[in-house]
Amino acid sequence: MSFAPTSATRVFALLGDPVAHSLSPLFQNAALRAADLDGIYVALRTPAGHLAGVLRGLAVAGGGGNVTVPHKELAARSVDRATEAVRRTRACNTFWLEDGEVRGDNTDVAGAGAALRALLGRAPEGARVLLVGAGGSARAVAAALSRERVGDVVVLNRTATRAEALRADFPELRVSVARDATELAGERFDLAVNATSVGLRPGDALPLTLDSGPRVGAALDLVYTPDETPWVRTLRASGIPAADGIEMLLHQGAAAFERWWGRPAPLDVMRAALPARRAPGP
Ligand code: NAP
Repeated sequence: MSFAPTSATRVFALLGDPVAHSLSPLFQNAALRAADLDGIYVALRTPAGHLAGVLRGLAVAGGGGNVTVPHKELAARSVDRATEAVRRTRACNTFWLEDGEVRGDNTDVAGAGAALRALLGRAPEGARVLLVGAGGSARAVAAALSRERVGDVVVLNRTATRAEALRADFPELRVSVARDATELAGERFDLAVNATSVGLRPGDALPLTLDSGPRVGAALDLVYTPDETPWVRTLRASGIPAADGIEMLLHQGAAAFERWWGRPAPLDVMRAALPARRAPGP
């Protein structure tokens, strides 16, 4: 189907630095064409000093977009009105104009919740969770766990003070902080989540080794790479159901589409536009 932009076309952009690797233009444009909407989605490498201006300009011109590393916290401070998800995570990944104001949401929270449900085949309510990482995406997972009424979370992060800050911000999760995976030897978790950037670059160590550490029932790696991530591959080889971050990416994008257009996203079309993935089974 050919698409010819006009002066009425709504322009959406992913703002970050870098953005060249992003899959968002692929599945957002597939969704726009399938839904026959007059919009286009591009990726714009944006220096921090221009983030607020570019974000506001796109929104005021009738469009909107997404924000990715390293600008999500800056975006949270740049919108006029933020959702509860933004306030809890201190991060904004989706923006648009509504009633003359620039609105911001963090659809990573909905994305993380959907990815957890897809992996477990049920709501994670009552699960015991090991959360590796304490940055922005770990906060999105924490907010999703809070929505799902999970109340037993251990956070393991390289920098302990960030893990302590997460614990303070999510008292309802009854978070405890571990300094080292070996501290957790013999402990059992229903679910482990890698919310660090470890695994993104070839040659990275695994974010969590299970040989001398805890036992886990299933694992979600928020990192995604063109193939299975090394952590997902290792876990599956040990018989542990594991999934990478593609499902979260897809669902955060679908939730963003819904904010921009006020209608359900064509999730199947978006999924089909992504590189093929294996099912989470080992
Ligand atoms: P962030 O706020 O910068 O946090 C990075 C986290 O990774 C921190 O916990 C940091 O620990 C840890 N880390 C970084 N390098 C490390 C290393 N060498 N060893 C141990 N820990 C290390 O980033 P973020 O926004 O949370 O994103 C993290 C990753 O999540 C991204 O790289 C991306 O792959 C993934 N992500 C995926 C999706 C999705 O839709 N699938 C969405 C968002 C993010 P310290 O606190 O010690 O620095």
